[in-house]
Amino acid sequence: MQLDKMDENEWKYHGEGNKNLVVAHVKLSRVLRLLKYPAKDSENPPQMAERAFRQIQNIVDFSSNVMSVLLGEKFVHSGEVVKLPLEFVRRLSIKVQDERPGWRCDKVIDIYSGCALALPNLTYPILHLSAHAPPLCVEIKPKWGFLPSSKHVSKDIKSRVCRFCMYQLYKVATGKWRKRTYCPLDLFSGNKQRMHFAIRQLIEEPQNNLKIFKGGQCIYSRKDSDDSLDLNSLLHHLRPYFLQANNRYSCHMTNKALLNDFIQVLMNALLSSHGGEGGVANDRQAERRNYCDASLFNRERSRHAGSQGLPSDCVLSRILQTQMLDMRDIEDLYPLYHRVEQHLQDFPKQRGDLHIEGPYDKEFLEMLQKCPAEDDGSVEYAATKIHQYLITKTAKDCSIMVALVPSGDKEEEDEGYSWLKGSRAPPFTSLVSILDLDPKPFDSILQLRLDQQIVSYYLKTCSALP
Ligand code: ATP
Ligand code: MG
Ligand code: ZN
Ligand code: MG
Repeated sequence: MQLDKMDENEWKYHGEGNKNLVVAHVKLSRVLRLLKYPAKDSENPPQMAERAFRQIQNIVDFSSNVMSVLLGEKFVHSGEVVKLPLEFVRRLSIKVQDERPGWRCDKVIDIYSGCALALPNLTYPILHLSAHAPPLCVEIKPKWGFLPSSKHVSKDIKSRVCRFCMYQLYKVATGKWRKRTYCPLDLFSGNKQRMHFAIRQLIEEPQNNLKIFKGGQCIYSRKDSDDSLDLNSLLHHLRPYFLQANNRYSCHMTNKALLNDFIQVLMNALLSSHGGEGGVANDRQAERRNYCDASLFNRERSRHAGSQGLPSDCVLSRILQTQMLDMRDIEDLYPLYHRVEQHLQDFPKQRGDLHIEGPYDKEFLEMLQKCPAEDDGSVEYAATKIHQYLITKTAKDCSIMVALVPSGDKEEEDEGYSWLKGSRAPPFTSLVSILDLDPKPFDSILQLRLDQQIVSYYLKTCSALP
């Protein structure tokens, strides 16, 4: 990629979240992630070049120095900041505008700074491409996988119904989504039946928690809250992959069997240790209550199935452990946040020392490590605890990308045989990564108000339910 000779015709719209828009190169396995900001601010664009550069450099540093250490280097690709010609960015932003979903258009692309984050295209792992079929790729945004322990929460309901399910109910009530989707505690349970159930619910109601790509193109996602989803067309895309693995033994496969096999392949990738030591499930997990009263999974069934727990080195386990680094609830953080605020009003120059806006360098890591176990009343203690909480928040918002590459011919022969003998999965090589690991702004603690609204809405509408 030659930065001075960028041609917008070589890039196409790939996807976007709340804060960034991503374009993919048409041939190379590369993406550019561009910042967005609220359209209402477009009169006074906030992204001056230097500020945007700093912001993206912070993202790279936070991902490579903090999140990659916690989640495992093998899963994390931090990328690099690039400076693009402004003319290229301007033409690109016009080119992709028509493909953006309407509900995302309250934000516009930053066309003023010329800064972007360059990353490998994780939906299109070029090094591993197979000659006979394009890779499949599933993106899951799993959200919050545990219940806060009750000693930290003021409302008992928070230790029985997970945060995500409570928020789902609120979003359905306020019209954001038509129907609720899955419960993350089922996905993170490590119990195969519960995981299967969760993934099926995600496929049936993906919201913005599931997307499926084929050959780097998104073939299945919810674009708008009321558009229609085409499960049949998804199955049509999937069928050849599963028949191919299986063709000598059955030419006909029901949709149900197909979907089951696909979920099984995905589950294997999510549970795989990917070269790590694997083995034991984590202890803290075993002690916790890990089911949510709002989950639609029939709990009797899971009791009979027994709890299997997550293999310690799989991607789900790494994410869950990072989410649980600080079990504190947002309510506990509020007084600490005020301590820092107060202090900074008196000593504004200490923002840098406390790394309020980064940088996420060696000193930042030292600050995290040096934190006293008990609250000594200091501003350092308060700031460090908030930083720790914000790290767990990043882990609650990240996405998992599972690329499934059909194996080459020889392996296919071998594995096809074991598939016949009863191992359930057809031959894919899976490549798992974690993306969207941006640092959260310090003042996101102020979301306490929203948290309270969600809980009280849940109590009002659901306390009557059994
Ligand atoms: P959120 O609202 O979840 O915080 P965001 O605005 O931070 O999202 P990302 O999630 O990083 O943006 O990117 C938006 C989408 O672009 C992702 O959901 C994913 O589909 C795609 N994407 C991002 N990075 C990559 C990558 N390296 N390779 C392939 N696709 C990517
Ligand atoms: Mg995202
Ligand atoms: Zn739940
Ligand atoms: Mg993000």
